[in-house]
Amino acid sequence: MDEKCGVVGVSLSDRAAARPLYYALYALQHRGQESAGIITHDGFQQHSHVEMGLVGDAFDPDDIAELNGSNGIGHVRYPTAGSVDTACAQPFSVSFKSGSLGLSHNGNLVNAGALRDELAGMGHAFTSDGDTEVIAHDLARNLLDADLVTAVEETMATVHGSYSLAVMHDDRVLGLRDPQGNRPLCLGELDDGYVLASESAAIDALNGELIRDVEPGELIVLNPDGTGYESHRLTDPDNTARCFFEHVYFARPDSTVDGKLVYEARRELGRGLWAENGIDTDVVMPVPDSGRAFASGYAEAANEDGGSVEFAEGLMKNRYVGRTFIMPSQDERERAVRLKLNPIKSTVEGKTVTLIDDSIVRGTTSTQLVELLHDVGAAEVHLRIGSPPIVAPCYMGIDMASRDELIAAGKTVEEVREVIGADSLGYLSPASIADALDTAREDLCMGCVTGEYPYDIDGEETDRAVSRPVIGD
Ligand code: SF4
Repeated sequence: MDEKCGVVGVSLSDRAAARPLYYALYALQHRGQESAGIITHDGFQQHSHVEMGLVGDAFDPDDIAELNGSNGIGHVRYPTAGSVDTACAQPFSVSFKSGSLGLSHNGNLVNAGALRDELAGMGHAFTSDGDTEVIAHDLARNLLDADLVTAVEETMATVHGSYSLAVMHDDRVLGLRDPQGNRPLCLGELDDGYVLASESAAIDALNGELIRDVEPGELIVLNPDGTGYESHRLTDPDNTARCFFEHVYFARPDSTVDGKLVYEARRELGRGLWAENGIDTDVVMPVPDSGRAFASGYAEAANEDGGSVEFAEGLMKNRYVGRTFIMPSQDERERAVRLKLNPIKSTVEGKTVTLIDDSIVRGTTSTQLVELLHDVGAAEVHLRIGSPPIVAPCYMGIDMASRDELIAAGKTVEEVREVIGADSLGYLSPASIADALDTAREDLCMGCVTGEYPYDIDGEETDRAVSRPVIGD
């Protein structure tokens, strides 16, 4: 499961935006590692630098120095819709009769195909196959005969799907969150301006203060001189569809998303896991790093209930095995878990163990870890997962897996347990997730664990045999 894109925008009173944008992108690096980019505007023209690779590799000091202007937007990308090349790297930048536009997008449109055909029929020429360019063209045509707020409102009525956007129209920076609020976006204040970002950790990195989340269906327009902002509620939907996986997995634990510190949310999910599926064992241990906050909440709740479980680090992570690590054969791939995670024998040997993680996608790592703990002498290995079984793909911009790759799709919990080889397996229920997030169940997207999505997805209801139906039209 890969996280999908981080966006940021800043407007400052009297200093270049490039360096703060660069720092903010560093803070959002976990949301995308494929490409990084910044666009600034100096009041006369746009300046752009977009490269493939990590933030630290994509910019050098000269690149930053050439990005003039005190207003700008930035993006880190993991590709969702569109090909993996520089044509789809963002921010997307283009000039129209209505002015220059820059767009940073986190999410995935479900009607991009139909909209692209319509715009192409009207003479719009596309340079990429990504859905962000579709939003840019739609906004540009609306800006021809409408003011900025009306044009954005018209685009919001046209594009359907998941989007949190940092947009720059000439030197004006905007933030826009889709009517269901599927992806996060927040607003912060700096000493000399304002910032919009996917996560509050990016505001912290600039020594700023989080003001609040951008509301679903809200447009924020920053003053280009860094003196303030306007808010426009363009829609006010009855229900939202916030991605619950932001709290479970994607967002940084030190970010506050939709009013809730992610670390605390994960601890509460761990407490819920104990309440629903607790089992007394000698040791409770996390899968590092993803299961740590869940395991801490779980162990705390177990001990409050009169237990005497030990919370211990039983698996050590090798932080130097990166995404580029190449394993030449299937056999070596299966052994690779030992390169990434190695057990501490004294924590495990002869003990009953509860191993805690945030989620199971394909089940490969879980299976290998359970086998590893048995191999080093664990008496029993019980697996507890801080989310419900993932049974369906995500169409809102998360690279989950196809249905036939998901271990829980079409299986009972007991059947999954058998495949993984654990002594017992317990997941967290959707109701407990909603409780832990202090949110009504109807205000969360849980498409990947229920198969019910907040948008119509062609093929989803009608043809369950298709492993990855085409999005939209
Ligand atoms: S389907 Fe799952 S991963 Fe995708 S937006 Fe909904 S909750 Fe998040």
